[in-house]
Amino acid sequence: MLKITRVQKNSIGAELGLEKGDVILRFDGHAAEDELDYLYYSALEEFTITVKDGKTGAEVEVEIEKDEDESLGLEFEKNTKIRTCHNHCVFCFVDQMPKGMRESLYVKDDDPAMSFTCGNFVTLTNLSDEGLERIVRLKLSPLYLSVHTMNGALRAKLLNNRFAGKIATQIETLVKGGIEMHCQAVIVPNENDGEELAYTARELFKYYPAVRDLACVPTGLTRYREGLTEIPDVDKEYSEKLLDLVDLLNAEFGVNFLLPADEYFVKAERPFKEKEFYGNFEQIENGIGMTAKFLSEAREALKKQGKRQLKSPKTSVLVSGVSAAKANATLYAEMENAVTGLTLCVLPVVNEFFGSTVTCTGLLTGKDMLEAVKRHLEKHAADEVILAGNTMREFEDVFLCGMTLGEFEQALTPYGVRVKVNRSGGEGLVKLLSENE
Ligand code: SF4
Repeated sequence: MLKITRVQKNSIGAELGLEKGDVILRFDGHAAEDELDYLYYSALEEFTITVKDGKTGAEVEVEIEKDEDESLGLEFEKNTKIRTCHNHCVFCFVDQMPKGMRESLYVKDDDPAMSFTCGNFVTLTNLSDEGLERIVRLKLSPLYLSVHTMNGALRAKLLNNRFAGKIATQIETLVKGGIEMHCQAVIVPNENDGEELAYTARELFKYYPAVRDLACVPTGLTRYREGLTEIPDVDKEYSEKLLDLVDLLNAEFGVNFLLPADEYFVKAERPFKEKEFYGNFEQIENGIGMTAKFLSEAREALKKQGKRQLKSPKTSVLVSGVSAAKANATLYAEMENAVTGLTLCVLPVVNEFFGSTVTCTGLLTGKDMLEAVKRHLEKHAADEVILAGNTMREFEDVFLCGMTLGEFEQALTPYGVRVKVNRSGGEGLVKLLSENE
């Protein structure tokens, strides 16, 4: 239900006599769950709303006729309730988080609204048939779907949820309802890989292009796995095999339907795919094509700017996760060559907090980076330290561990270095490295 907090003057809502405190219970007889219902129905020309009077509690159904682009002019109380998951996946990252971090990091969201608006992955295991029908009715497309496997019994096992096996019929319902999907499979060695992965890919590809792609993502294993199912880490040979299978299946399909995570290329020590492979980078938040995008942006920026001469020489320390330091090594050498006077020291930081198996930059804590930078600066002088913007919370200067950027800078004061944050990908890094201040 949606509780009205404001009715705009001269709006349709005001004409109908709606007031702050009134509650919308239903649209066209369907329960109003969140603002997505409002957004969908208020774009229609004809529909009904059932409103509960905030003062008397009386319910009334109102028929609305309006132009498509006319707004009802209503604002609602923030709905902070998020649909959470009913699973206990063997690879769940939330279960491997240490205690004492901020509460939001422990939320196991599995909410189609968050999938549609933020690209969060959902499993559909907490949805009734009505929930599925709502996705279709409100056209929540594209949806980001954690499929993991199309083998129902195996899915129930991996998700530790006996109701997880009906994914095939759920996908069919969504496809018939006109919903498009980006899918992912977190690959658990010896479970949903090899022939099982081939089966999953072929089953999903039957629905292409409604099912647009299938991301293959490695399990993120932290050092906090005590009491959890043992999952082997992936090595070079494993990653090579997986990439070979992906190539084989994509060749069979004739399109780049399977999208392997960047981490497999790093582990296999194979060159990354060109950026064209990833289309519109629709699974980039999943670690798919991030490196290709970064490399291409940086190289384009280097080409555009040509050879650069710094006014005065400088030494920059670039803080990085272990994977990115390895993956971008050639690019960093190119950057150093392109800017005369620049000495670039790439500092791969081992993730002490989550464990050394977590190698991406985005999961480094402020504390781990600070300690590594200090150790480096004790031995080597530098003019500036460059951090990746994705080590901080969105729109905030706060690292994963709660340390602020200000605290980070303050701790480095004795070393006399500037701290810069790159929030603009490859192009942003070229820009930062090519300027003196
Ligand atoms: S769906 Fe699985 S991986 Fe996602 S939060 Fe729930 S238990 Fe964790």
